[in-house]
Amino acid sequence: MEGKIWLSSPHMGGGEMKYIQQAFDENWISPLGPNVNAFEEDLESFLGEDVHVAAVSSGTAAIHLALKLIGVQFGDEVICQSLTFVASANPIMYMGATPIFVDSEIETWNIDPVALEEAIVDGINRGKKPKAIIAVCIYGMPYKVEAIKLIAEKYDIPLIEDSAEALGSMYKGQKCGTFGDLSVLSFNGNKIITSSGGGALVTSNYKYKEKAVFLSTQSKDAAAHYQHSEVGYNYRLSNICAGIGRGQMEVLNDRVSQRRSNHAFYESFLNDVDGVSLFSEPNEDYFCNYWLSVILLDPTKIKRNREEIREGLLKEGIEARPLWKPLHLQPIFKNSRFYGGDVSETLFNQGLCLPSGSNLSEDQKEHIKKVLLALL
Ligand SMILES: *Cc1c(COP(=O)(O)O)cnc(C)c1O
Repeated sequence: MEGKIWLSSPHMGGGEMKYIQQAFDENWISPLGPNVNAFEEDLESFLGEDVHVAAVSSGTAAIHLALKLIGVQFGDEVICQSLTFVASANPIMYMGATPIFVDSEIETWNIDPVALEEAIVDGINRGKKPKAIIAVCIYGMPYKVEAIKLIAEKYDIPLIEDSAEALGSMYKGQKCGTFGDLSVLSFNGNKIITSSGGGALVTSNYKYKEKAVFLSTQSKDAAAHYQHSEVGYNYRLSNICAGIGRGQMEVLNDRVSQRRSNHAFYESFLNDVDGVSLFSEPNEDYFCNYWLSVILLDPTKIKRNREEIREGLLKEGIEARPLWKPLHLQPIFKNSRFYGGDVSETLFNQGLCLPSGSNLSEDQKEHIKKVLLALL
Protein backbone atom coordinates (compact mmCIF):
# COMPACT_ATOMS: atom_id res chain seq x y z
CA MET A 1 0.00 0.00 0.00
CA GLU A 2 2.96 2.30 -0.64
CA GLY A 3 1.95 5.84 -1.35
CA LYS A 4 -1.68 5.61 -0.30
CA ILE A 5 -2.87 8.57 1.73
CA TRP A 6 -4.81 7.30 4.75
CA LEU A 7 -7.56 9.02 6.66
CA SER A 8 -5.71 8.68 9.98
CA SER A 9 -2.87 6.26 10.54
CA PRO A 10 -0.62 5.46 13.53
CA HIS A 11 2.27 7.88 14.02
CA MET A 12 5.01 6.70 16.33
CA GLY A 13 7.09 9.22 18.22
CA GLY A 14 10.27 7.16 18.57
CA GLY A 15 10.19 6.73 22.35
CA GLU A 16 7.86 3.73 22.34
CA MET A 17 10.48 0.97 21.93
CA LYS A 18 12.41 1.90 25.07
CA TYR A 19 9.35 1.17 27.21
CA ILE A 20 8.64 -2.06 25.36
CA GLN A 21 12.29 -3.10 25.76
CA GLN A 22 12.06 -2.36 29.48
CA ALA A 23 8.98 -4.58 29.73
CA PHE A 24 10.87 -7.40 27.98
CA ASP A 25 13.98 -6.90 30.11
CA GLU A 26 11.94 -7.15 33.30
CA ASN A 27 9.59 -9.85 31.92
CA TRP A 28 6.48 -7.74 32.51
CA ILE A 29 4.65 -9.37 29.58
CA SER A 30 1.18 -9.20 31.11
CA PRO A 31 -1.96 -7.13 31.46
CA LEU A 32 -0.46 -5.24 34.39
CA GLY A 33 2.94 -3.81 35.24
CA PRO A 34 5.02 -0.65 35.53
CA ASN A 35 4.08 0.71 32.09
CA VAL A 36 0.38 0.45 32.91
CA ASN A 37 0.81 2.43 36.14
CA ALA A 38 3.11 4.99 34.53
CA PHE A 39 0.79 5.44 31.52
CA GLU A 40 -2.06 6.16 33.94
CA GLU A 41 0.09 8.73 35.74
CA ASP A 42 1.06 10.37 32.44
CA LEU A 43 -2.61 10.70 31.52
CA GLU A 44 -3.51 12.01 34.97
CA SER A 45 -0.92 14.77 34.82
CA PHE A 46 -1.86 15.64 31.23
CA LEU A 47 -5.57 15.91 32.03
CA GLY A 48 -5.15 17.78 35.35
CA GLU A 49 -8.23 18.44 37.52
CA ASP A 50 -6.98 15.77 40.00
CA VAL A 51 -8.51 12.97 37.96
CA HIS A 52 -7.83 9.25 38.37
CA VAL A 53 -7.28 7.06 35.33
CA ALA A 54 -7.81 3.32 34.88
CA ALA A 55 -6.10 2.00 31.74
CA VAL A 56 -8.05 -0.73 30.00
CA SER A 57 -7.95 -2.77 26.79
CA SER A 58 -10.19 -0.47 24.71
CA GLY A 59 -12.43 2.56 24.76
CA THR A 60 -15.38 0.21 24.32
CA ALA A 61 -14.37 -1.66 27.49
CA ALA A 62 -14.13 1.67 29.33
CA ILE A 63 -17.71 2.58 28.33
CA HIS A 64 -18.89 -0.87 29.41
CA LEU A 65 -17.22 -0.41 32.82
CA ALA A 66 -18.68 3.10 33.15
CA LEU A 67 -22.22 1.74 32.71
CA LYS A 68 -21.44 -1.04 35.19
CA LEU A 69 -20.07 1.43 37.78
CA ILE A 70 -23.13 3.64 37.47
CA GLY A 71 -25.26 0.59 38.19
CA VAL A 72 -27.13 0.27 34.89
CA GLN A 73 -29.30 -2.85 35.01
CA PHE A 74 -31.01 -5.13 32.53
CA GLY A 75 -34.02 -3.31 31.03
CA ASP A 76 -32.82 0.19 31.98
CA GLU A 77 -32.77 2.99 29.41
CA VAL A 78 -29.58 4.87 28.56
CA ILE A 79 -29.43 8.02 26.42
CA CYS A 80 -26.74 8.18 23.74
CA GLN A 81 -25.79 10.74 21.11
CA SER A 82 -26.83 9.35 17.72
CA LEU A 83 -24.02 10.84 15.62
CA THR A 84 -21.17 8.65 16.83
CA PHE A 85 -19.24 5.45 16.26
CA VAL A 86 -21.21 2.32 17.17
CA ALA A 87 -18.83 1.62 20.08
CA SER A 88 -20.50 4.42 22.07
CA ALA A 89 -23.73 2.41 22.21
CA ASN A 90 -22.71 -1.25 21.97
CA PRO A 91 -21.92 -1.46 25.70
CA ILE A 92 -25.54 -0.42 26.42
CA MET A 93 -26.52 -3.63 24.60
CA TYR A 94 -23.93 -5.68 26.55
CA MET A 95 -25.75 -4.60 29.72
CA GLY A 96 -29.13 -5.72 28.36
CA ALA A 97 -30.20 -2.08 28.57
CA THR A 98 -32.03 -0.05 25.92
CA PRO A 99 -30.39 2.81 24.03
CA ILE A 100 -32.38 6.01 23.47
CA PHE A 101 -30.83 8.12 20.73
CA VAL A 102 -30.66 11.92 20.60
CA ASP A 103 -29.91 14.16 17.64
CA SER A 104 -27.08 16.67 17.33
CA GLU A 105 -27.14 20.47 17.34
CA ILE A 106 -25.53 22.27 14.45
CA GLU A 107 -22.71 24.11 16.26
CA THR A 108 -20.67 21.27 17.80
CA TRP A 109 -22.45 18.38 16.01
CA ASN A 110 -22.88 16.80 19.45
CA ILE A 111 -25.89 15.95 21.61
CA ASP A 112 -28.59 18.62 21.37
CA PRO A 113 -29.59 19.96 24.81
CA VAL A 114 -33.20 20.61 23.72
CA ALA A 115 -33.74 17.11 22.32
CA LEU A 116 -31.90 15.64 25.31
CA GLU A 117 -34.27 17.24 27.78
CA GLU A 118 -37.23 16.12 25.68
CA ALA A 119 -35.94 12.53 25.80
CA ILE A 120 -35.48 12.67 29.57
CA VAL A 121 -38.90 14.16 30.26
CA ASP A 122 -40.56 11.63 27.97
CA GLY A 123 -38.68 8.80 29.71
CA ILE A 124 -39.83 10.02 33.11
CA ASN A 125 -43.42 10.24 31.84
CA ARG A 126 -43.20 6.65 30.62
CA GLY A 127 -41.92 5.57 34.05
CA LYS A 128 -38.45 4.98 32.59
CA LYS A 129 -36.10 7.66 33.83
CA PRO A 130 -32.82 7.25 31.91
CA LYS A 131 -29.99 5.80 33.99
CA ALA A 132 -27.15 7.56 32.16
CA ILE A 133 -26.38 10.05 29.39
CA ILE A 134 -23.57 9.34 26.93
CA ALA A 135 -22.33 12.59 25.36
CA VAL A 136 -19.62 12.41 22.71
CA CYS A 137 -16.93 14.89 21.63
CA ILE A 138 -17.25 14.01 17.96
CA TYR A 139 -14.17 14.43 15.76
CA GLY A 140 -12.54 15.96 18.82
CA MET A 141 -15.07 18.80 19.26
CA PRO A 142 -16.31 19.32 22.82
CA TYR A 143 -20.09 19.14 23.23
CA LYS A 144 -22.01 22.04 24.82
CA VAL A 145 -20.47 21.18 28.17
CA GLU A 146 -22.36 23.62 30.39
CA ALA A 147 -25.80 23.09 28.88
CA ILE A 148 -25.48 19.29 28.99
CA LYS A 149 -24.08 19.26 32.54
CA LEU A 150 -26.90 21.49 33.70
CA ILE A 151 -29.51 19.08 32.34
CA ALA A 152 -27.73 16.04 33.81
CA GLU A 153 -27.67 17.77 37.20
CA LYS A 154 -31.25 19.03 36.96
CA TYR A 155 -32.54 15.47 36.51
CA ASP A 156 -29.77 13.86 38.59
CA ILE A 157 -28.59 11.53 35.82
CA PRO A 158 -24.91 10.48 35.61
CA LEU A 159 -23.03 11.80 32.59
CA ILE A 160 -20.62 9.58 30.66
CA GLU A 161 -18.31 11.55 28.39
CA ASP A 162 -17.10 9.65 25.34
CA SER A 163 -13.90 11.52 24.56
CA ALA A 164 -12.43 8.65 22.55
CA GLU A 165 -11.68 11.11 19.76
CA ALA A 166 -10.96 14.16 21.89
CA LEU A 167 -7.71 13.67 23.83
CA GLY A 168 -6.00 17.08 23.77
CA SER A 169 -9.20 19.05 23.14
CA MET A 170 -10.42 21.60 25.67
CA TYR A 171 -13.47 23.57 26.67
CA LYS A 172 -12.75 26.90 28.42
CA GLY A 173 -9.22 25.68 29.02
CA GLN A 174 -10.27 22.42 30.70
CA LYS A 175 -9.29 19.16 29.03
CA CYS A 176 -11.84 16.85 27.42
CA GLY A 177 -11.97 13.62 29.34
CA THR A 178 -12.64 15.46 32.61
CA PHE A 179 -16.23 16.65 32.23
CA GLY A 180 -18.20 13.45 32.79
CA ASP A 181 -18.91 11.68 36.07
CA LEU A 182 -17.00 9.05 34.14
CA SER A 183 -15.11 9.86 30.95
CA VAL A 184 -13.67 7.60 28.30
CA LEU A 185 -10.56 7.77 26.11
CA SER A 186 -9.43 5.47 23.29
CA PHE A 187 -5.95 4.63 22.01
CA ASN A 188 -7.01 2.59 19.00
CA GLY A 189 -4.76 2.70 15.93
CA ASN A 190 -6.64 5.51 14.20
CA LYS A 191 -6.96 7.86 17.19
CA ILE A 192 -4.83 10.92 17.97
CA ILE A 193 -2.37 8.74 19.87
CA THR A 194 -2.38 4.95 19.93
CA SER A 195 -1.26 2.11 22.16
CA SER A 196 -2.13 -0.20 19.22
CA GLY A 197 -5.30 -0.91 21.15
CA GLY A 198 -6.33 0.49 24.48
CA GLY A 199 -8.59 2.81 26.36
CA ALA A 200 -9.01 4.59 29.65
CA LEU A 201 -11.68 5.39 32.17
CA VAL A 202 -11.25 8.81 33.78
CA THR A 203 -12.94 9.94 36.97
CA SER A 204 -12.49 12.34 39.85
CA ASN A 205 -13.87 9.66 42.17
CA TYR A 206 -11.07 7.35 43.38
CA LYS A 207 -13.60 4.68 44.42
CA TYR A 208 -14.69 4.42 40.78
CA LYS A 209 -11.10 3.92 39.70
CA GLU A 210 -10.47 1.19 42.28
CA LYS A 211 -13.67 -0.57 41.29
CA ALA A 212 -12.84 -0.29 37.57
CA VAL A 213 -9.46 -1.97 38.13
CA PHE A 214 -11.15 -4.66 40.25
CA LEU A 215 -13.80 -5.37 37.61
CA SER A 216 -11.27 -5.30 34.76
CA THR A 217 -9.11 -7.96 36.44
CA GLN A 218 -11.85 -10.59 36.89
CA SER A 219 -13.20 -9.24 40.20
CA LYS A 220 -10.88 -11.23 42.43
CA ASP A 221 -11.81 -11.07 46.12
CA ALA A 222 -8.96 -10.58 48.61
CA ALA A 223 -8.11 -14.27 48.93
CA ALA A 224 -5.33 -16.53 47.64
CA HIS A 225 -7.74 -19.16 46.36
CA TYR A 226 -9.44 -17.32 43.47
CA GLN A 227 -12.69 -16.33 45.07
CA HIS A 228 -15.25 -14.22 43.25
CA SER A 229 -18.44 -12.68 44.56
CA GLU A 230 -19.05 -10.60 41.44
CA VAL A 231 -18.85 -11.10 37.66
CA GLY A 232 -15.62 -9.60 36.34
CA TYR A 233 -13.99 -8.84 33.01
CA ASN A 234 -10.56 -9.29 31.47
CA TYR A 235 -10.24 -5.64 30.47
CA ARG A 236 -6.92 -4.44 31.92
CA LEU A 237 -4.42 -2.90 29.48
CA SER A 238 -1.39 -4.97 28.46
CA ASN A 239 1.94 -3.73 29.83
CA ILE A 240 3.36 -3.86 26.28
CA CYS A 241 0.56 -1.70 24.87
CA ALA A 242 0.93 0.68 27.80
CA GLY A 243 4.61 1.02 26.81
CA ILE A 244 3.53 2.25 23.38
CA GLY A 245 1.09 4.60 25.10
CA ARG A 246 3.88 6.06 27.28
CA GLY A 247 5.98 6.77 24.20
CA GLN A 248 3.00 8.40 22.53
CA MET A 249 2.32 10.64 25.53
CA GLU A 250 5.75 12.21 24.90
CA VAL A 251 4.49 13.52 21.55
CA LEU A 252 0.80 14.12 22.29
CA ASN A 253 1.08 17.92 22.20
CA ASP A 254 2.89 17.70 18.83
CA ARG A 255 0.15 15.44 17.49
CA VAL A 256 -2.50 17.98 18.48
CA SER A 257 -0.56 20.80 16.76
CA GLN A 258 -0.07 18.69 13.65
CA ARG A 259 -3.77 17.84 13.38
CA ARG A 260 -4.69 21.46 13.98
CA SER A 261 -2.33 22.51 11.24
CA ASN A 262 -4.02 20.02 8.88
CA HIS A 263 -7.27 21.82 9.65
CA ALA A 264 -5.64 25.19 8.96
CA PHE A 265 -4.30 23.78 5.68
CA TYR A 266 -7.81 22.76 4.55
CA GLU A 267 -9.17 26.12 5.69
CA SER A 268 -6.54 27.94 3.61
CA PHE A 269 -7.96 26.76 0.30
CA LEU A 270 -11.53 25.65 1.07
CA ASN A 271 -12.64 29.01 2.49
CA ASP A 272 -12.81 30.33 -1.07
CA VAL A 273 -14.92 27.46 -2.40
CA ASP A 274 -18.60 28.37 -2.41
CA GLY A 275 -20.71 25.48 -1.10
CA VAL A 276 -18.03 23.88 1.07
CA SER A 277 -17.81 24.44 4.81
CA LEU A 278 -15.12 23.11 7.10
CA PHE A 279 -16.24 21.92 10.55
CA SER A 280 -14.65 24.40 12.96
CA GLU A 281 -14.73 25.62 16.56
CA PRO A 282 -17.92 27.67 17.16
CA ASN A 283 -16.11 30.24 19.36
CA GLU A 284 -13.05 30.83 21.60
CA ASP A 285 -14.42 28.61 24.38
CA TYR A 286 -13.70 25.60 22.20
CA PHE A 287 -10.26 24.14 21.47
CA CYS A 288 -10.54 21.14 19.14
CA ASN A 289 -7.74 18.62 18.54
CA TYR A 290 -9.21 18.30 15.01
CA TRP A 291 -8.72 14.55 15.16
CA LEU A 292 -10.38 14.56 11.76
CA SER A 293 -10.94 17.49 9.42
CA VAL A 294 -14.48 17.30 8.08
CA ILE A 295 -16.27 19.22 5.32
CA LEU A 296 -19.94 19.68 4.47
CA LEU A 297 -20.99 19.91 0.84
CA ASP A 298 -23.95 22.09 -0.03
CA PRO A 299 -25.86 20.07 -2.68
CA THR A 300 -27.34 23.24 -4.19
CA LYS A 301 -23.85 24.60 -4.93
CA ILE A 302 -21.57 21.59 -5.43
CA LYS A 303 -22.46 19.44 -8.43
CA ARG A 304 -20.81 16.21 -7.26
CA ASN A 305 -22.29 14.50 -4.23
CA ARG A 306 -20.34 13.19 -1.25
CA GLU A 307 -19.87 9.70 -2.73
CA GLU A 308 -18.68 11.03 -6.08
CA ILE A 309 -16.09 13.15 -4.34
CA ARG A 310 -15.04 10.30 -2.05
CA GLU A 311 -14.63 7.95 -5.02
CA GLY A 312 -12.78 10.59 -7.02
CA LEU A 313 -10.29 10.99 -4.17
CA LEU A 314 -9.93 7.22 -3.81
CA LYS A 315 -9.05 6.89 -7.50
CA GLU A 316 -6.11 9.19 -6.80
CA GLY A 317 -4.99 7.13 -3.79
CA ILE A 318 -6.62 9.36 -1.18
CA GLU A 319 -8.79 7.84 1.53
CA ALA A 320 -11.75 9.94 2.66
CA ARG A 321 -14.74 8.66 4.64
CA PRO A 322 -18.37 9.56 5.20
CA LEU A 323 -19.24 10.72 8.73
CA TRP A 324 -20.38 8.17 11.31
CA LYS A 325 -23.79 6.96 10.20
CA PRO A 326 -26.19 8.10 12.94
CA LEU A 327 -27.01 5.17 15.20
CA HIS A 328 -30.79 5.64 14.98
CA LEU A 329 -30.41 4.88 11.25
CA GLN A 330 -28.37 1.72 11.79
CA PRO A 331 -30.05 -1.64 11.12
CA ILE A 332 -29.21 -2.96 14.62
CA PHE A 333 -30.93 -0.01 16.27
CA LYS A 334 -33.83 0.44 13.86
CA ASN A 335 -36.48 -0.04 16.54
CA SER A 336 -34.91 2.38 19.02
CA ARG A 337 -36.44 5.60 20.23
CA PHE A 338 -34.98 8.77 18.76
CA TYR A 339 -35.44 12.40 19.79
CA GLY A 340 -34.65 15.38 17.61
CA GLY A 341 -34.86 16.30 13.95
CA ASP A 342 -32.71 15.66 10.90
CA VAL A 343 -29.45 17.37 11.91
CA SER A 344 -27.33 14.22 12.26
CA GLU A 345 -28.92 12.67 9.17
CA THR A 346 -28.15 15.77 7.07
CA LEU A 347 -24.58 15.90 8.38
CA PHE A 348 -24.20 12.25 7.39
CA ASN A 349 -25.56 12.86 3.89
CA GLN A 350 -23.44 15.94 3.20
CA GLY A 351 -20.27 15.39 5.22
CA LEU A 352 -16.90 13.98 4.27
CA CYS A 353 -13.91 13.27 6.52
CA LEU A 354 -10.64 14.22 4.83
CA PRO A 355 -7.16 12.76 5.41
CA SER A 356 -6.11 14.06 8.83
CA GLY A 357 -3.10 12.04 9.98
CA SER A 358 -0.43 13.87 11.95
CA ASN A 359 2.07 12.20 9.59
CA LEU A 360 0.81 13.74 6.30
CA SER A 361 3.74 15.05 4.25
CA GLU A 362 3.79 18.37 2.40
CA ASP A 363 3.76 16.47 -0.93
CA GLN A 364 0.72 14.49 0.16
CA LYS A 365 -1.08 17.66 1.20
CA GLU A 366 -0.36 19.29 -2.16
CA HIS A 367 -1.72 16.19 -3.92
CA ILE A 368 -4.90 16.25 -1.81
CA LYS A 369 -5.39 19.97 -2.50
CA LYS A 370 -5.00 19.56 -6.25
CA VAL A 371 -7.34 16.55 -6.53
CA LEU A 372 -9.95 17.94 -4.15
CA LEU A 373 -10.15 21.35 -5.81
CA ALA A 374 -10.52 19.70 -9.22
CA LEU A 375 -13.40 17.55 -7.94
CA LEU A 376 -15.16 20.48 -6.30
C1 LIG B 1 -12.92 4.80 18.76
C2 LIG B 1 -14.16 5.17 19.46
C3 LIG B 1 -14.66 4.39 20.52
C4 LIG B 1 -14.13 3.05 20.88
O1 LIG B 1 -12.83 2.96 21.24
P1 LIG B 1 -12.04 1.58 21.02
O2 LIG B 1 -10.77 1.83 21.76
O3 LIG B 1 -11.84 1.42 19.55
O4 LIG B 1 -12.84 0.48 21.60
C5 LIG B 1 -15.77 4.85 21.19
N1 LIG B 1 -16.38 6.00 20.84
C6 LIG B 1 -15.94 6.76 19.83
C7 LIG B 1 -16.65 8.03 19.54
C8 LIG B 1 -14.82 6.37 19.09
O5 LIG B 1 -14.42 7.11 18.06
